[in-house]
Amino acid sequence: MFVVVNPATGKTILEMQSDDQKSIEAKMALAENAQKKWQKTSIPMRIGIVKKWNDLLNANLEKLAKILTNETGKPISQSLSEIRSVSARVDFFTKHVEAVLETSCVSETGEFTQEEISCEPLGVIANISAWNYPYFVGANVFVPALLMGNAVLYKPSEFASITGHHIAQLMHEAGVPENVFTLVTGVGDVGAMLVNQNVDGIFFTGSHATGLKILQQAREKMIPVQLELGGKDPTYVCEDINIEKAAESLAEGVFYNTGQSCCSVERIYVHQSVYASFLEHLVEKTRRFIVGDPADEKTFIGPLTRKAQLSILEKQVTDARSHGGRVLLGGERLKGDGYFFAPTIVAEANHDMICMREESFGPIIGIQKVADDEEALALMNDTDYGLTAGIYCHSQTRARQFLSQVNTGSVYWNCCDRVSPRLPWTGRKNSGIGSTLSLEGLRVFGRVKAWHLRAVSN
Ligand code: NAD
Repeated sequence: MFVVVNPATGKTILEMQSDDQKSIEAKMALAENAQKKWQKTSIPMRIGIVKKWNDLLNANLEKLAKILTNETGKPISQSLSEIRSVSARVDFFTKHVEAVLETSCVSETGEFTQEEISCEPLGVIANISAWNYPYFVGANVFVPALLMGNAVLYKPSEFASITGHHIAQLMHEAGVPENVFTLVTGVGDVGAMLVNQNVDGIFFTGSHATGLKILQQAREKMIPVQLELGGKDPTYVCEDINIEKAAESLAEGVFYNTGQSCCSVERIYVHQSVYASFLEHLVEKTRRFIVGDPADEKTFIGPLTRKAQLSILEKQVTDARSHGGRVLLGGERLKGDGYFFAPTIVAEANHDMICMREESFGPIIGIQKVADDEEALALMNDTDYGLTAGIYCHSQTRARQFLSQVNTGSVYWNCCDRVSPRLPWTGRKNSGIGSTLSLEGLRVFGRVKAWHLRAVSN
């Protein structure tokens, strides 16, 4: 059993049943059999079922959003928006899956020889997921996996397991056979048991520390292991941009989902000539955010999902102060039983500070002054992570030139904290291995087969 807590109140919502070694083995065996049949269902049928699941999400939107807000503390407007936006992913994947699965003939010459490439599903995959966007990061994996003909053993985070339960229930209601999409619940040790099964692929979203454990545990399996991990995402604000607009956009990019997005902006570098003005605008924009009850539609910043993160943020603030940081806003947890941390802006930040090196995953931002593009670029690349990076400047040529030298999987010009179903979502360095979304995000759930065909006359 494990306990699900409402982070806004600190009160227990319910106790949930955990899987164990025996139940996981049984689920694995059932999934293996079920997958063989699922693979043979027609692609239009699989598309229809997945679309129906998405319709059911929308039909239950208000109820599901409340559940998500209750167990993760995500502000309700953001819970609604997350669930609504699943449609764009489903639309993209359902539109392209037939083409990805289509066999192609690639022979160039030869009367009797035919060369073809076909694509087959991997089989049974383990999908171990994070809590911060359970619908998004879940759908990035299980939607294309199912469409491509795989069975999925889905382990939601222990901090989003009620949501996981509803995701599975609606999948079955939509027509996905029970053993083709199977819920596995529990804390980290249950995830580790799942990794030990005879699965055909592991698709993980979560922290770098857990990703590393999974990679080590799975190293002798010879199966695809895909890891979507954390970030320490930087942005550079140049001297020739509208500073007020940049500050407004970045305030959202820093504090949306209470700073608990893998692509939250976590470091900002500002050209010295506009540094003071930027700080002023950022403080002003951030002050406008309503912090409080996540169930209230006006709230923009809610509690942290995990209590333990409060002391990590406190440590980052103390450390920043000791290295010359100036806390312009916030800097402490809020009184009460909920896990609230005040939105925090640290000026005069530098790379000696933990808040500029380690993932904060909370409502805190460090801002550092830079002399020019070269200094900004060097600092942005001075990190163990490589998920996203951005620049706010007038000229596209300057942005392209700058961003081409940044070592991250995604880059942004005059925007931030953005994911598109049409573009690959991929991390470099400690931000992970592999891609979800885009056509890549379908292909990773299949394996190609090369056909060498030769007709002979008797
Ligand atoms: P986490 O690593 O604590 O947990 C993720 C999942 O792994 C959970 O389901 C957990 O139960 C399970 N787990 C824990 N220990 C395990 C083990 N030893 N073996 C197998 N499974 C285990 O991460 P989290 O707190 O849920 O998520 C936050 C992290 O996820 C942040 O670092 C964030 O940046 C990252 N994230 C990345 C992306 C991306 O797309 N790159 C998206 C969302 C979140």
